[in-house]
Amino acid sequence: MPRLLADRPVLTMTSELGKVMAAARAREQAGKRVFHLERGEPDFDTPPHVVEALAAAARAGETHYPDQRGTLSLRMALLEKLGRGNGIGCEPDDVVITHGGTHGLFLVFQALLGPGDEVLVLSPHWMAIPKLVGFAAGAGYRTVPVYLDLLEGRLDAAGLAARLRAAVGPQTRGFYLNTPNNPTGAVLSAEQLAAIAEVAIERDLWVVSDEAYEHLLFDGARHVSIASLPGMAERTVSVYTLSKSYAMTGWRLGYVVSPPALRPVMGPLLAFYTTHGVFPASQAAARAAVTGPQDAVETMRSAYQERRDLLLAGLESQSAIRVARPRGAFYAFADVSVALQGRDIWSLVDEWLSLGVAVLPGTAFGPEYGSWVRMSLATRREDVTAAAVVLRQHYAATRVS
Ligand code: PMP
Repeated sequence: MPRLLADRPVLTMTSELGKVMAAARAREQAGKRVFHLERGEPDFDTPPHVVEALAAAARAGETHYPDQRGTLSLRMALLEKLGRGNGIGCEPDDVVITHGGTHGLFLVFQALLGPGDEVLVLSPHWMAIPKLVGFAAGAGYRTVPVYLDLLEGRLDAAGLAARLRAAVGPQTRGFYLNTPNNPTGAVLSAEQLAAIAEVAIERDLWVVSDEAYEHLLFDGARHVSIASLPGMAERTVSVYTLSKSYAMTGWRLGYVVSPPALRPVMGPLLAFYTTHGVFPASQAAARAAVTGPQDAVETMRSAYQERRDLLLAGLESQSAIRVARPRGAFYAFADVSVALQGRDIWSLVDEWLSLGVAVLPGTAFGPEYGSWVRMSLATRREDVTAAAVVLRQHYAATRVS
């Protein structure tokens, strides 16, 4: 038999999410209840005017080979949004429409990383990052834990710069950052981003800025795009998606903004040879999402904030699970070291699943997080409340020391 797989570690990486989802499904098939806090999948529908725009564009014949960079009309609409909302000024040629943020990040790492190069990934990080870096042949990554310390006020901007500076090595090509952050809900301030920018400029590095949750901010937190800071536009690739802001996960719509130096690579080579662009009618719908009424974005944002408050209030009277209060995105990252009592994190994840609560182990977000779990708020409000009740009762009954 021919060799089954190319000899590349990335092709044999497993998924923690896949494992938990399969176990949750098995439990449901056995007729038992599961509260789904494992997945970042909005439980809202895409706004109706966006769906209508897709149908109208398809009827009007927007069904042919697309420009691989994206339709000019969507890119023009995004230029306006980027200028107004992100403080990023650019040309239409610097924006490439992608099949979601995942595809956008895939293209960025392909463009920036070669054999022997590494990216410093600020952590905890979204679990797809090791795979997306791994697809860039010969490239690697190292994690630099920062978000929890920033979220809980243990690290100031100068300390952040010092930590990053100490981590940069001869192979480092850039930083990957994500604000608001999945999984902690940390939102980086302008001052903290300026500290990252300072090191990037000093060491002549790229910054890959993943802003998937830019609109999901709590308690008046403000989103700042690092590309808008002085000297950063020329070394930053910013990655966006419509998945979270507009509950459009299934549409696979995102975009990447890069400096002019990457123009010959991003659209003509990488977008062309991975997907040859995005269905033009969906791009018309994306334009409707970005330029149309934004009330659905606010409805969802405030629902996530309410669920965060319900979860925190529900877990208040116990001490086995300690949640770092999220300021954005739709996750809560919880320290479960007391509940663990020295066990492996999977034994706790399995135990919680046997109680009907599905969550992800912290190790999915970086090797340092073996005593943490991620709880998603992108799930029904009732499930968030019920999960908190189950866990509170469990730890009240078991009395952890
Ligand atoms: N970045 C982060 C931090 C994410 O959490 C996600 C999705 N979970 C994405 C990017 C990509 O999302 P999509 O491919 O749906 O646009």
